[in-house]
Amino acid sequence: MAEVSFRCGHGGDPERGAVRLSRVCPLCMLIAETQRSRGELLRRATPPERGRLARETRIGAEYEWRCERGHDRYRASVREQLTGTACAKCRTSAGAPAARREAGVAFMNPGLRTRTSMTEQRLKGLLGERIRLHHRVNAVRVARTFFGRNEVWPDILVPQLRIAIEYDDPGRSRRAHLGLKEASDREKDEALAEVGWDVIRVRGGGLEPLGPNDVVCRTVDGRVADEIVERMVRLRGADAVEALAVVTPVGGAPA
Ligand SMILES: [Zn+2]
Ligand SMILES: [Zn+2]
Repeated sequence: MAEVSFRCGHGGDPERGAVRLSRVCPLCMLIAETQRSRGELLRRATPPERGRLARETRIGAEYEWRCERGHDRYRASVREQLTGTACAKCRTSAGAPAARREAGVAFMNPGLRTRTSMTEQRLKGLLGERIRLHHRVNAVRVARTFFGRNEVWPDILVPQLRIAIEYDDPGRSRRAHLGLKEASDREKDEALAEVGWDVIRVRGGGLEPLGPNDVVCRTVDGRVADEIVERMVRLRGADAVEALAVVTPVGGAPA
């Protein structure tokens, strides 16, 4: 098999005949999807593994890792390390057998620790002033595989309405340079649609809308949150959204 070189700089050397691909490697894609960095991943690997991991392109490649909670070292694929509870002892304490989760069900994947940007936190805060958000879920079981797992990890989930909210911004570090980001976003939207979910994308920084429910904006403010709620009403009806409304006392006085 001919070697390939990826746009992220990983893979074979194009000077030595490796086939040049215009996309980033699968591992860089998964790192971006889970909002991590390669540096973070390297710190979790045992020191002798780091040199190889720094150049790794495959999400199924196995490494030896150190548990953050001080359990024994363990072997796991990069995918398991990024998207699940790779340490067996941590997994036992997290409980909840994965097999019982049906397609379309939102759940908490305890091994998934995505970082959220300031803007995303602001968006969550503004939405939380309008509707009751469920903070104990970060994943949705889907009927196809996404980065090798039957789940996707939207930015904000409203399981009562089966609506996911994603914040996209070209300036967001680590994601900005990714050519395949849009393809992966569409794939994620389709995977959610198959199990009865709709996605509302907030497209910041001059990004064009991807789908019919998208909210295009310059900055994330109350108006954006209002537009999201309006999209929810359009998708699920006023009654369903009203049932989640945060009740503000008449006259705006604190309760
Ligand atoms: Zn790469
Ligand atoms: Zn552990």
